Amino acid sequence: MSQLQQKEHMYRCIELAKNGIHTCKPNPRVGCVILKDEKIIGEGWHKKTGGDHAEIMALKNCEVNPEGSVVFISLEPCTHKGRTAPCVEALIDAKVSKVIFSSLDPNPKVSGKSIDILSAAGIEVSHGLLEEESSELNIGFFQRMKRNRPFIRSKIGSSLDGKIALSNGESKWITSAESREDVQNLRARSCAMMTSNQTVLLDDPSLNVRINNFSDDDQPLRVVIDSTMQCTGNEKIFQLPGETMIHSKRVDEALFEHLASIEINNVLVEAGPRMNGALLKLNLIDELIIYMAPCILGPDAIDMFGSPVIKKLSDRYSFAVKDLTSIGPDMKITLRKENV
Ligand SMILES: [Zn+2]
Repeated sequence: MSQLQQKEHMYRCIELAKNGIHTCKPNPRVGCVILKDEKIIGEGWHKKTGGDHAEIMALKNCEVNPEGSVVFISLEPCTHKGRTAPCVEALIDAKVSKVIFSSLDPNPKVSGKSIDILSAAGIEVSHGLLEEESSELNIGFFQRMKRNRPFIRSKIGSSLDGKIALSNGESKWITSAESREDVQNLRARSCAMMTSNQTVLLDDPSLNVRINNFSDDDQPLRVVIDSTMQCTGNEKIFQLPGETMIHSKRVDEALFEHLASIEINNVLVEAGPRMNGALLKLNLIDELIIYMAPCILGPDAIDMFGSPVIKKLSDRYSFAVKDLTSIGPDMKITLRKENV
């Protein structure tokens, strides 16, 4: 099989993995394609924690006996018994002849282990194909496994001059309906949403996912930072389906370690300048997504970041542009912290 064909099959695995983007958390998104005589005989993806892994679904879906087949997977097959039996066993039992997987398991305790087990059973193994693409899909899961904290994304809607509201607080709406609809997709793929008591009291946001066919069982956890205990519990965010957690301390690294310990892979922050400033200062914003409307609000309007005050240019906070797109009349700018 040519390198190009192999890539095509791995791209297909990544596409299949995306089927689980809203539902498989806290597990990684994984896709699998099985080929025999160069023809696809089965495909699968991981839908829900506790349910079949991608490899198992693909094996079950095979139209013919998978003995002697080539198996493509977007992530290393699991070797330990978790909520389900290990996939390496199922691959060995099915007598497949070759396994090609993309990224290694990010968990240092098991990373690379499948290679030894499959090789010992006489199955040829290779890995690393489209690794960048497949790990991007699971950036939160990878970060939680490797660094013991979730991937933190902050979404900000602003004007062209970087303002998020007028000085009287009026902010509805600077960005377009199309941008706000796009935010729904960001929320849907997040394990948790985070905001501050100021935002809750000022804007009374829902911070829930409102897209078609999205089950309330998959609503991201909503985290409200309320260090001054100002929320009453009557605000909208506390009334909606899904869980809301109040954190009565300031944001710090310990909070995110705690969120990692309850299997939160990624957090989407939708908050005001104070919280965004605090996160920036702590160097905790991994990705910044700015929906920028092509309008000017003037110097009295409120800035995106309330802190820190920077005196020397060499102390500035820099990001790398990852993507630029237009959404309706607005611009969507995706930026990454440089060491992510
Ligand atoms: Zn598995």
